[in-house]
Formats: sequence, C-alpha cells, structure tokens
Amino acid sequence: MRMSKLLLKTLREPPSEAELPSHQLLLRAGLVMPLAAGLYCFTPLGWRVFRRIENIIREEMDRSGAQEVHLPALHPIELWEQSGRAEAMGDTLFRLRDRKERGFALGPTHEEVISFMAARTLQSYRDLPVTLYQIQTKFRDEPRPRGGLIRLREFTMKDAYSFDAGWDELDRSYQQAFDAYVRIFERAGVPVIPVAADSGAIGGKDSQEFVFLSENGEDEVLLCPGCGYAANAEKADFRRPPPIASEPKPIEKVATPGQKTIADLARFLSVDERQTAKAVFYRVDGKPVFVAIRGDLDVNEVKLKNALKAKDLTAMDEAGVRAAGLVAGSAGAVGLTGMTIVADPSVVDAPNLVAGANEDGFHLVNVNYGRDWQASLVADIALARKGDSCPNCGEALDARRGMEMGHVFKLGTIYAETMGVNFLDEAGERHPAVMGCYGIGVERMLAAVIEANHDGNGITWPAEVAPYDVHIVALNLDQDAVAAALDEVEQALSDGGFSVLTDDRPDSAGIKFKDADLLGMPVRLTLSPRSLEKGGVELRVRRSGETEIVPLAGLISRVGTLLSDDS
Ligand SMILES: [Zn+2]
Repeated sequence: MRMSKLLLKTLREPPSEAELPSHQLLLRAGLVMPLAAGLYCFTPLGWRVFRRIENIIREEMDRSGAQEVHLPALHPIELWEQSGRAEAMGDTLFRLRDRKERGFALGPTHEEVISFMAARTLQSYRDLPVTLYQIQTKFRDEPRPRGGLIRLREFTMKDAYSFDAGWDELDRSYQQAFDAYVRIFERAGVPVIPVAADSGAIGGKDSQEFVFLSENGEDEVLLCPGCGYAANAEKADFRRPPPIASEPKPIEKVATPGQKTIADLARFLSVDERQTAKAVFYRVDGKPVFVAIRGDLDVNEVKLKNALKAKDLTAMDEAGVRAAGLVAGSAGAVGLTGMTIVADPSVVDAPNLVAGANEDGFHLVNVNYGRDWQASLVADIALARKGDSCPNCGEALDARRGMEMGHVFKLGTIYAETMGVNFLDEAGERHPAVMGCYGIGVERMLAAVIEANHDGNGITWPAEVAPYDVHIVALNLDQDAVAAALDEVEQALSDGGFSVLTDDRPDSAGIKFKDADLLGMPVRLTLSPRSLEKGGVELRVRRSGETEIVPLAGLISRVGTLLSDDS
C-alpha cells in the first residue's frame, strides 16, 4: 500500500479529551475516529489491526476445539424475559420495536440466544461436550463510555459457551478455554494475570478475569506477594484481624454526645475500632436493609448483593435512614424489628461490642450477638483492602489497578434450566446441560495492545498484530534509481509474504520518520540515494531503534528473522 493512496490522517497533538495513552495514540495515528459517545469508526489502518487480533482469537479458539457460529445481534425480547434478564439488565439493554410493535433488544451478550440454539440441537449425552463461539457485535447502553476503545456502547466480543454433561466435564472445557486465552494474550502482546472474580448471584461457580495491570485501569486487584493469590477487589477474601477476646458482660447504655463516626466513637470511649459494630443501610430491591459489620471493616456491596440474591442495591441517604425510623450515627441492631438484618461474621464472633442505641447521642456497650440481637442472614460481606492479610498465607495484600481483558466463568445450569437446554443420559434420564461462558472484547484488547506497546514517539506494534510488517520510507523518489529500487524491494517483500506500507508522499524526511514512529510498524526501511550509495536500504527496528544497512539481496531473510524474533 502506498501512503499517497491510503485514507489516513495523523495528528501532531492528541485531542484534549483523550487521557489514556492508547486513546491518544489511536487518534494521533488515525486508527479510529469518534462518531458519538462510545461509538467509533475504524479507518483502513485501524481495521487491519482489528482483523489481525480477531484472527489470533479465531485461530486459538479453533485450536482449542471450539466451533464458530454466528448469531443475530437483534433478539426477540421474549428470550430476555424468559431468562429474567430483561429486567436485570435495566437501562443497559438497548430496546426497540419493529413495525408490528413487537419488542426486540440489541444483544449485549448471547447466553439466551446460544441456549435457544443449543436447546434445539443438543439431545443426548453423545452430543456433549461442545463449545460454541462467535466474534460478534454487542450493544450496551453504558452510562459512562470512556477511554477511547476501553468502554464502548457498540463493540465486538468473542463470546464462547460450553455445554457439558456434568461439573467435572465443565472443569475440562473451562481449562481448555483458559489455556486458549493464555495463548491469545501472549500472541497479541498483552501481559495479563488471571485473578479470581465475582461470579454474581446467579449460582455460578468459579470465575476468573484476565487482567492487564495498568495505572489507567478502572478495576482494583488484590495480589499476595507471598503465595500469588490474586482476586478482583469485589471478590477478594482476607483474614479478618482477630476480635479482642473477653467474657460477655452485661449490656449498658452510655451517653455519647456528638459521636457520629466509628473513629470518633472509639476515641471517645477509649476502645479499639475492633470493639465497635458499624451500622450501614441499603435499599435492596425497594426494601430497607440493615447491615452490621465490625467497626474496623468496610462493606463490599457486590458480596452483599450476592448474599441477598438482590437485583438492585443502593446505599440509603440520610432522608431514607430517617424515614426507615433509624437514627443515623446511633443506629444499632438491638431491639430493631421489621427489617432485614445482615451481619458479617466479624460482629458475630466478637464479644462486648459498642453499638448504636437507636437514640440520638447514646450507644450500647457490651453488646453480644445471640444474647442481645440476631441477624436474618450471616454472610461474608467484608471488603478486602490493601494491607489486609492474604486468606491463604497471611501476608499483607497489595492493591493494583488493572483492566479486565477477558473473563472465563463456570455458569452451571441456570441458563440451561430457564432456557430448556436438556440432554438425555445413558439411562435415558433428562438433565440440564452444565454451561460455561468465556468472553474477550476485541476493541478493548486493541487498546490494551497499545497501552502495553508504545513509547514517547508512538506505537510499537508486536509483529503479530501490526497493521503492516514493514514501513518503507522512500526519499527522493523522483530519482530513477530510487524508484527502480523501491519497485524491486516492494516486489521482493510481497513475494516473501510480508505486508508493506510505503511512504511515497512528497513530504520531508523528518515528517515521514515521525509518522513511521507514530504508526509503529515493527521494521522501517529507508530507501534513498544515500542508502543506495551505502549498498542497500537502511533497516531500523522500531522497538530498539537499532539501525543497519542491509543489501537488497539479503533483505528478505533479515526482515523475516526480525519479525519472527518479535513474535
Ligand atoms: Zn498469600
């Protein structure tokens, strides 16, 4: 491809709205163009990268034994109502009506549709296991699209779904998908770590995310430097600091004027924060919920939502707290009725706690679980934080930011049951198939490739995903010797199976070199009267900046070596 013909507009300066390096470089290198919030057009150069990433994914999924299918993006809304997710997805689901006023949704994911297909094709245990995948457009009405290609409203996902006869068999399908993902990210040049992830309230088992660690990520990951434990902050477990032991004492009411926070209260009463119970209020599916946790800990809202199998959970504001008859700053579970009470184990096994007296300016001391109050539900709802003890080995957990690149999930039978994916076993008995699902966002991966592969001058594409293998900068093309040598080099590279972008524009050498660095092809060849005088072309490796003069005769093997070393 000659650059004089290529639809491409590079920018000297990144637009002010772009904060992430990948967002800046995508725009500066002219790979994408924004259309509206969360919607991007791909230019010819950007689309070549997209297609190469897609091909890596396809090759590795095929290699893992998965079979490619293609499902509609437009879904009858009945399918989403059948699974119960029409409501659960809320405003994220794009909805529309056809000319006959029938309801449809633009698919944000495809568990329902793949289950529809599987229910009509899988009949017997002999049909299992099977993993189906597609690389397809998804639509999500995100409240805050951001970061260029990081969070979009229309995007492409490789989504795969496995169907097995049992949980042990699912473990194998899950491992195959996991291994494929490891190869995909390695080939694309995105370093990731697998971390334990939240599996939601729908009855799934294991779930792991592949996370690219980056200061620009919006997820928090907790890592143990001692044993390698790694989990999303929403999911992470930790060892709670032990309670302060003592024999239960009689309960007492004490005046605590003006003491609203746990820190103030602990100081006022000269007790450790571990000797206090914190009250937190939520509105869960429309009803008030009282949550009790030890004063030194915080509530993990994802764990709480899962424990309550809730669809909707929001923190209650002060007006809501008053309306529920509670006293903010002095609320406690003793004597509380007519409300769901959730307790973290930390307040159940700690004796003689300080808790609110439900009377402004008063607290109770020596409150003991079981004797003085009971919870409707005791569940781990505590948030792990940096510095907390690893659940496996006790070392202090480290907190890092990251971007979720892929997700593998043992779904279980929830969709099979609601969508009717059943099979007959050897004895002729009917069972729901055990499902797994596995996703990778293609655009987000493209952004991560750039986040992981750039320097101050531009992108440094890994060889496997670069839009072109070789970028030729031709200078003084009006000289016959240069023009003839260029034809020869382009032909030889093309015969050798390499893709080539040639800068044949009449611009200065300085502008061409800057653009070559910005666009980031792994190998740059400069062809000029001077390089020909020196006996060939000047070859420069984009990543290392190393340059050498290579004679035309040895060019193909040299380029081949450099590109295969890179991948
Ligand atoms: Zn550990």
